[in-house]
Amino acid sequence: MSDYKGGCAHVHTQAKAEPIDNHVCHCNVCKAVTGQQSTHVAFFNYGDLKVDHPEKLKRVPFNANNPNGPLEICLCTDCGAAIMLDDKEKRIRVAVPNVMGYDDAHFPKATYHAFYDDTKGYPKPADGRPVYEGLRPEFVWPKGA
Ligand SMILES: [Zn+2]
Ligand SMILES: [Zn+2]
Repeated sequence: MSDYKGGCAHVHTQAKAEPIDNHVCHCNVCKAVTGQQSTHVAFFNYGDLKVDHPEKLKRVPFNANNPNGPLEICLCTDCGAAIMLDDKEKRIRVAVPNVMGYDDAHFPKATYHAFYDDTKGYPKPADGRPVYEGLRPEFVWPKGA
């Protein structure tokens, strides 16, 4: 059975379902937030990723250039750890396994590369996984709540 646990010492996240999308993100927003050239990102259905102390989360816009966008980074108010990305439209919640306290070694590997294009200044990934300029074309956003 799926059981993914993340978070910090103060706020815990848990998903008992598989991610609905699992990719290596090459977008500039992830790059700015994580400082990594690419970021392993897992989308869960909104209701599948639970958080035990939502009242301890400080919310900041995910995309500093689009502060009214739907995604918010949730940070622990006790220690500052990044806990998850939350979606104001309640479609998804997002985990970054190697940043948000998950057992990264046992997290399912990303299935494709997203938001890569030839403006990136580094070679197109050649690890055999598909590479798209956005999310995988067949991805459908869940309905919000
Ligand atoms: Zn990204
Ligand atoms: Zn904390």
